[in-house]
Amino acid sequence: MDISVVIPLYNEAESLPELEAWISRVMNQHGFTYEILFINDGSTDDSWEVINKLREHNPNIRGVSFRRNYGKSPALNTGFSRAKGDVVITMDADLQDSPDEIPELYRMITEDKYDLVSGWKQKRYDPLSKTIPTKLFNATARKVSGIHNLHDFNCGLKAYRNKVVKHIEVYGDMHRYIPYLAKNAGFNRIGEKVVHHQARKYGTTKFGLDRFVNGYLDLATLWFTAKFGVKPMHFFGLLGSLMFILGFIAVAVVGFGKLYDMNHGNPYRLVTDSPYFYMALTLMLLGSQLFLTGFIGELVVRNSDRRNEYEIDEEITTSPDNNQV
Ligand code: UDP
Ligand code: MG
Repeated sequence: MDISVVIPLYNEAESLPELEAWISRVMNQHGFTYEILFINDGSTDDSWEVINKLREHNPNIRGVSFRRNYGKSPALNTGFSRAKGDVVITMDADLQDSPDEIPELYRMITEDKYDLVSGWKQKRYDPLSKTIPTKLFNATARKVSGIHNLHDFNCGLKAYRNKVVKHIEVYGDMHRYIPYLAKNAGFNRIGEKVVHHQARKYGTTKFGLDRFVNGYLDLATLWFTAKFGVKPMHFFGLLGSLMFILGFIAVAVVGFGKLYDMNHGNPYRLVTDSPYFYMALTLMLLGSQLFLTGFIGELVVRNSDRRNEYEIDEEITTSPDNNQV
């Protein structure tokens, strides 16, 4: 199969028939073998019914329906794990991304040998309240990730070599940083294509302003992870150990200093009279606290990898041997 189109959606019933017709038209014109994988992220409108209807005349449609709304990242992750096409293309469901971009994206992966091609909505049709923070956000993401050629990390329209999506795990709100996740997994050929962007035709955006706060927190986590190895908690354990050792040495130095004073006939003073003793002791105790925090974090991370636990309610598959989950 040439292409899997993965489409996460939350309450997009009005857009779906147009989107499906448009994608099928492009696919048929170019003779691609394909599947459209709709991931219904707990819609409360009749998106899932619409998908089932569309499936009646288009056998290339597959779908997964979550029991409730889990977010765009779990939706993408679900699509990624199921995608069978050589090239996997992600696209928003709201008709803001154009299926006409598919053939060129496909060519860039198969002929130019990119691992990932990210869309760039150079001229975007979103309100200023969104485009200005997005500019800042992209500048930070470029710096932190070291992927300097990307202008639009969070563009929903992206293409991947199938191998790439099988090697990355998108959780939380990490869909904003898939190029960074891919790079950390060793996929370095990351390209960009200017894509057309349209204003939303139906419904409203599903993300609020909190996206930017979450976005920066996620970026910090990823940066930590890439910088200090798999577990950011290592850093706290290490810092704690260093503080403890320093504190221990300081306590020893102060203690020996007092002993020296005593042996050289200076007036007798207890070690505990010295303010330095308490400063050193505090450092030691803080160090051990931080070390313990790091250790507990380590245990939590190791023992509970529940980042991507979501409940699937129904699934449409094409092959009869692989039906309902
Ligand atoms: N989406 C989703 N789950 C969510 C929020 C959004 O699957 O919890 C989908 C949404 O239906 C759309 C895509 O993610 O297909 C992008 O969302 P939206 O268009 O609201 O974002 P924007 O274009 O404003 O960035
Ligand atoms: Mg949109």
